[in-house]
Parts: sequence; structure tokens; C-alpha cells
Amino acid sequence: MQIADRLNLVAESITLAVQAQANALKKQGIDVVGFGAGEPDFDTPPCIKEAAIEALRAGKTKYEPTAGTPEARAAIADKLRRYNSLEYSPEQIIVSVGGKHSLYVAMMATLNPGDEVIIPAPYWVSYPEIVKLAGGVPVYIRGEPSRDFKITPDQLAAAITSKTRMFIINSPSNPGGHTYHAQELQALAAVIERHPQIMVCSDEIYERLLFNGQRSCSWAALNWDAWKDRTITCNCLSKTYAMTGWRIGYTAGPKPLIAAMNKLQSQMTSNITSFCMPAIVNALTDSTNEREVEKMRIAFEERGEHMWRRLNAIEGITCVRPTGAFYCFASVRDLLNRPLGAAATVCKDAVEFSRQLLSQVHVAVVPGNDFGFDDHVRLSFATSKQQIDKGIDRIQAFVNGEAPR
Ligand code: PMP
Ligand code: GLU
Repeated sequence: MQIADRLNLVAESITLAVQAQANALKKQGIDVVGFGAGEPDFDTPPCIKEAAIEALRAGKTKYEPTAGTPEARAAIADKLRRYNSLEYSPEQIIVSVGGKHSLYVAMMATLNPGDEVIIPAPYWVSYPEIVKLAGGVPVYIRGEPSRDFKITPDQLAAAITSKTRMFIINSPSNPGGHTYHAQELQALAAVIERHPQIMVCSDEIYERLLFNGQRSCSWAALNWDAWKDRTITCNCLSKTYAMTGWRIGYTAGPKPLIAAMNKLQSQMTSNITSFCMPAIVNALTDSTNEREVEKMRIAFEERGEHMWRRLNAIEGITCVRPTGAFYCFASVRDLLNRPLGAAATVCKDAVEFSRQLLSQVHVAVVPGNDFGFDDHVRLSFATSKQQIDKGIDRIQAFVNGEAPR
């Protein structure tokens, strides 16, 4: 059986693989503490579910417009106006099968072979792979932990070449948990502004999961006139409304971009699941959901602070304080190349560290290698405080060279 050469370019998603490994161990009856999952542990708010059930009962079971129903696109346009101060018409919006698909279709619709795409590291695992599948070339800029993983305008300027076509920005970030303030985005924007051939892809999927009273800031709203024509804004319902399994993402951008994405998607997936369209309208317009979203946000903020404090109290682990999303991205550099766990195993990088952590003390974390940092691990705090304590106790035992507690 021939497998296409293009698949040699890409790796399987490590985030999904870790989740699958942890679930497989759980099925065998092993008490695994899972810090791998990049998804809320809450259920979807009830009235969003009801909207889909009602649509199913009402027979909304047929093809819909590729880019989404007029009602769903209007609800998204309205949300962008209210929440992001962005004025888009429904024709400037396309709904896709999750945030990942939105990004994939956007890049397939804009990149040509050899186009360079600047990606700040640490980055979400799928960016480089999507860029490569679209024929582009990822170019990385390292965000230093000492600057909360944020890149500087000078670093950005130095990475730009005549081949640069896109800059990807993800704030709040997966896996770094860091957030750029409006002034910081503005300073980066001032660099990109000088290069009209560069588009910006702003992945805003964690925009509602912000801590310490911060307010999100959309790249396209930085400078109304200049940026709306050059920005691809990607978002989804997955994280905000605990809807990862529903697979609903959307993109807003200039009309020619959305038309191109529509053309591609019409030959690919067509519309997303028909009876999910009314759920989009409900999620974005029913005010009861706002209370649910805020409840979840508060829980994530408390858990994040707790996990961060406990991780930093372990000798050999340092972690940047998360200001958004639901991840701690912790350095285990000082724990490499020394005996760990009851088996006194020596790990040379984060992959081995994560493997040993799972097999010896049954804690699932995602190695940072595919996020661009081979001496960091990502821990999701989208789980209960009790599980966080249990998992961190086990990590502490592993570091101390003790058997699991
Ligand atoms: N962007 C980032 C930064 C992510 O962490 C994820 C993973 N949830 C996605 C996009 C894709 O989201 P979705 O699950 O809706 O495909
Ligand atoms: N984005 C989430 C994560 O980073 C979900 C898994 C994925 O699609 O990568 O874990």
C-alpha cells in the first residue's frame, strides 16, 4: 500500500496521543492522573445541548451552506462586534470543523510552496504540521521563559525575510499559558506593518480563559484599517463552551480569503454538522451561557494558580505563571540526566521524562518537544483540585526517587 510522501513531512499529534495512552491505561484499571488533556473537564452548558437536540427533532438533518447557516454566521458576526470590537459582515465568516480545521483551511487557502511562516515558540503542536502540509516552511522564534515566553519586536524583525508570508500569534497561548497585552501586540504589529506581504493568523481560541482581570485583545482590532485586511482571525467554541467534541470552529477575514476557504471547504467537508448550527447561535447569544463560561473561567484561574504554586515548590521544576488558557508549561531541565523515580532512571529529555512519569507513577503530561521545548512538559489544569494535588504529590515522589504514594 502506497502512503503519500506528504505524510512523511508531519508527525502525529502528541497531545492526542498522550490522551489516548492515558485513557488506555485507565481502561486497564490503572489509576492514572491525567494532565494531558487539552480540553475542559466541564460539560457543555445545557441550553446549547438543547438547541442541537431541538434542531435534530425539527428535522435539521440536511445539507446547509458550506460556510454555515446565515443565522450562525450572523451570530458570530454579532459576537465579534460585541466582544472583539470587530466589524465583519456574515460573508466574511466561515464555520469549519473545529479550530484545527479552521486553521488548516485558512493556511491551505493562503500559502504557496516555500512561503515562510513565523511561529513563536513554544507553539501549539499542530501549527508547524499544518504549515508544512500547506507547503509552507515554519520559521521559529524562541520566547524565553524569563520573559514569560513572549517574543520581542526585535526578534520578530530579525526573523523576517523576503519569503515571509505569515505570522502566527496565539494569545492566550497553548502551551505557554502566557498572554500578550495590547501594547505588546501593538509593538509586534508595528514590525509587521512595514512588510505588506505578511498576513497575520491570530488564533484566539482561549480568549475567554483569561486571569487576573485581563481583557482579551484581537489582533485585527489593533489598528482598524490596516489590520482587518491582513488578519485571519481563527476561533472556535471548543474551549470557551466546553464543546471540544462538537467540532465547531470559525474564521473571520477579508472577503477574498473567506471565498477561497469556502471554495476549498466545498470540496472537502462541506458544512459542519447541520444540527450544530443552532447550537452556535445559542452559545453566542443566550445570556445564561455567560454565567457558565464565567464559572468555568474562575475554576481554571483557581486551579492554575494552585498547580503553578505546587509545581514551583518542587526542587528542579520551574514554571512561568499562567495568565490564560489552562496549561502550566514547566521546565524539567534540572531534573534531566540524574536518577529519578524508585527505578532511578536517568532521562535525557522531556519525552523520556514524560514516559517514565507515566509508567512509574502514572501521571500523564505532554512532553514539550513538539511544542518546541525539549526540556519542558505541559500539564493541563482542566481537572479537579483533588486530581491536581494527587498528581503533583506523585511527581514530587518521582523527583525524590520514591515509589508512588
Ligand atoms: N489552537 C490551539 C492553540 C489549540 O490549543 C487547539 C486545540 N484545542 C486548537 C487550535 C484547535 O481547536 P479545536 O479543538 O476546536 O480543533
Ligand atoms: N488542542 C488541545 C491540546 O493541545 C487538544 C488536542 C489537539 O487537538 O491538539 O491538547
